[in-house]
Amino acid sequence: MSCIFCKIVNGELPSRKAYESDNVLAFHDITPQAPVHVIIVPKKHIDTMNEVETGKDDAVVAELFQAARQIARELGIAESGYRLVNNCNEDSGMEVSHLHIHILGGRKLGTIVS
Ligand code: C5P
Repeated sequence: MSCIFCKIVNGELPSRKAYESDNVLAFHDITPQAPVHVIIVPKKHIDTMNEVETGKDDAVVAELFQAARQIARELGIAESGYRLVNNCNEDSGMEVSHLHIHILGGRKLGTIVS
């Protein structure tokens, strides 16, 4: 299996965990763009948002957002504010083709698009 995030999920690659449940893992980004920068992934491999299947994947997608809320609270950025980012395919600059949400906070964030 060549997917980097699948390797993190199954423990082949190390990560600093921020949240874990049966279906979702969150870990601190290795190249943080903000004081808090956590990557939230479904443990099941889904390439991108385009491949999310309505009906089948609804619960895990909902849990990505539940995890984001919990992480924001636990890491102390819920009140100051944060941004959730999902990249999809080439124009977004997506580097890892395994569905994920970035949670970024801990500083004043710049413009949303560059
Ligand atoms: O959304 P995108 O695919 O561009 O983001 C992938 C993110 O995964 C990057 O922020 C990168 O630093 C992070 N990453 C990581 N650990 C790895 C490989 C990538 O945190 N082993």
